[in-house]
Amino acid sequence: MAALRGATTPARTLGLVPTMGALHEGHLSLIRQARAECDQVLVSLFVNPTQFDEQDDLSAYPRDEQRDMAMAQEAGADLLFAPRADEMYPAGHRTSVHVDGLTERWEGAHRGSSHFDGVATVVVKLLNMAAPDVAYFGQKDAQQAVVIRTVVRDLNLPVRICVCPTVRDPDGLALSSRNARLSPAERRRGLALHRALVEAERRVAAGESDVTALLSGARATMADLGAPPEYLALVDRDTFEPLGALTPRALLTVAARVGPIRLIDNTLISAAAPLN
Ligand code: AMP
Repeated sequence: MAALRGATTPARTLGLVPTMGALHEGHLSLIRQARAECDQVLVSLFVNPTQFDEQDDLSAYPRDEQRDMAMAQEAGADLLFAPRADEMYPAGHRTSVHVDGLTERWEGAHRGSSHFDGVATVVVKLLNMAAPDVAYFGQKDAQQAVVIRTVVRDLNLPVRICVCPTVRDPDGLALSSRNARLSPAERRRGLALHRALVEAERRVAAGESDVTALLSGARATMADLGAPPEYLALVDRDTFEPLGALTPRALLTVAARVGPIRLIDNTLISAAAPLN
């Protein structure tokens, strides 16, 4: 920790971009945003074992530190922090950060609430080690971003959280390090998530306001494409509480298992202007 603080330059703004490596354009967009806003940019690469609920997912997680280092530097990173697991969690590590309620829904319900305990704990550790002015996260993991905002607010952490837009492949699939594990046929099925979100947006823009009809239409779209959702829900974007009606803060969030991996996606979706 002392080494990490010593590596950063005091009295200049520091941006932190936490990642698990296997960098793609989504990560690079966060690094570029940090580069545009901060004097120094620190990228962390750490495949955090405590947030994995499946041992296979952890062991299959792609790792290539040399490639990541070159990509991060090219996108504007000044410093790379790639600790070993025993440096982050030395013997006797006992503390974890838990956000009540929010972490038991949706991703928490499917991955176990210890998933978000793992995320919250490692993020607090990274924030404490690096003491950044701003930390950058992706809207792709919208519930994670809300968990982190909640931790920062509740524990009075002196950092600004910046959530950046989801970066997609040209056909709409949200970029994810795990996409590399999809076969071509699975990748086509994976498009079901984005298609369902777009279809729901289209229906809302056309005047649909019945949330049950909206959700069942989106579920049917996904089932037709061979990827029925694990969950598909309209929630408040700040709390992830389910919504029974469209509001200006509505977010449609979805997860589906496709082949060996789970995919997640979301979109902000608000009531259309009344048609006249
Ligand atoms: P990960 O390496 O998957 O833990 O992701 C590190 C950060 O990159 C998280 O804040 C993610 O939300 C963000 N991220 C991952 N995929 C994307 C994407 N497609 N677009 C934007 N941000 C992303």
